[in-house]
Amino acid sequence: MKIGCHCGEVIVDQTDNLPFKGHLIPDQEWFTNYDSIDDEVIDPLVEGRLDKKAAYRLSRLIISRLSRLVWQCPACGRLYVEGLDNQLRCFLPEGEPFDREVLRSRQNQIAHD
Ligand SMILES: [Zn+2]
Repeated sequence: MKIGCHCGEVIVDQTDNLPFKGHLIPDQEWFTNYDSIDDEVIDPLVEGRLDKKAAYRLSRLIISRLSRLVWQCPACGRLYVEGLDNQLRCFLPEGEPFDREVLRSRQNQIAHD
């Protein structure tokens, strides 16, 4: 996937573990996520109705199905968030200096600082 940013930069999403991409789960769906993992994965696994491999796959599916994607342009800091209609919404950071790495993992920041 490629996103043409308003600043002219092209945000390229073709690999995993990107420091400028995130997965957003709305707070209204946060506990639904927990409950789904409990009800659809952990309980069936403990009760022997689901094997380990299926549990791995299903838990990933549950986490993914409720999340929407978000990307940040590394050049200008704009955020592109998937809306409810799957169209991208652009958000422009305010103030200087703004954080161009809001989606980078904390662990990577510690490792590289
Ligand atoms: Zn940009």
